[in-house]
Amino acid sequence: MHKHNQVKNKITGILSTDGDGVKLTRFIGTTQLPQVDPFLLLDHFGSDQPNDYIGGFPSHPHRGFETVTYMLDGKMRHQDSVGNNGVIEGGGIQWMTAGSGIIHSEMPEQTDGMLSGFQLWVNLPSHAKMVAPQYQEHSATDIPVEHHDNGTCIKVIAGKTARGTHGVIKNSYIHPTYWDVKLPKNQQLTEQLNPSHNAFIYVYEGHVLVADNDSLNQGELAVLSPGNTLLIKANIDSKFLLVAGHPLNEPVQRAGPFVMNTQQQLQQAFSDYQAGNLINNNQ
Ligand code: FE
Repeated sequence: MHKHNQVKNKITGILSTDGDGVKLTRFIGTTQLPQVDPFLLLDHFGSDQPNDYIGGFPSHPHRGFETVTYMLDGKMRHQDSVGNNGVIEGGGIQWMTAGSGIIHSEMPEQTDGMLSGFQLWVNLPSHAKMVAPQYQEHSATDIPVEHHDNGTCIKVIAGKTARGTHGVIKNSYIHPTYWDVKLPKNQQLTEQLNPSHNAFIYVYEGHVLVADNDSLNQGELAVLSPGNTLLIKANIDSKFLLVAGHPLNEPVQRAGPFVMNTQQQLQQAFSDYQAGNLINNNQ
C-alpha cells in the first residue's frame, strides 16, 4: 500500500562559519535540529566572494562517523593522514569514513569564482566507530544519472532508484540514499523510499510541493514522515537533495569533530588527539 512521505518539519537553517571562516548555512547539527538519525550535520556553503571561503578547512581530526562532501561548483583540495590527496571538483563526491581517526584538510583550489556544495555527516554504528578509515571519491562523470521522459534527472550518489539505477557509493552501515534531483517546472517525481529509513529533502533551487500538501521554498529543508512513496512536484524549475538512511537508535555524544556513544569515548578521542595517538590505531 502507498503511504506518502509527508513533511514532518521544515527548517530554514542557521547562518554560521566553520573551518577558517568559511560562511555556510547549517540545517542539521543545530539546537533546532540536532540530528536526523543517522545524519548528524548538513551544511550548505556557496559564495562567489573569495573572503567567504578562502580560509578553507585547515587540518583537523575526526573520529566515529563519516564526512561526505558533494561539490556543486569550484574545486577543493583534500589531504589526509591516510595518504589520500586529490581535488574534488563541481559535481564530485567524497565519502570519507573517519572511523577510529583521521586528520584531514579541505582547502579551496581557487582564489576567485564560485565555490559551492554540501557537507553531510553520517553516523557510524557503535560496532564500527573504530574501524580503519576508508575513502571513496568520484568525479561527476563516475556518478550515474537517471533521465526521465519528463526531463527529470536523478544523480544517484548512493542508494537505488525505483527504475534500478544504483549509486556509486558503497555503504553497508546505514544503506544511504543520496540523490541530487533536477525537476523541471510542472513535472513530478514519484519514488519509493524504505519505510524504516529516516529521510529529508533540501531544496537548493526552485520551489516544490511534497505529497500535494506542503510547499518548500529554495533554502528550506524538510524532515519527512515515515512512508514508502515520495511524491514531489516542481512549481518552477527546481533542484533538491534527497537523503535517507537506516536510523541507528543509539546514544550520541558529540563535541566538535568527534561523535561517539559515551562521554568516556569522547574524552578518549580528545586525549588520543592531544597525545598524537588519534591515528595510531590505523596501522
Ligand atoms: Fe572535516
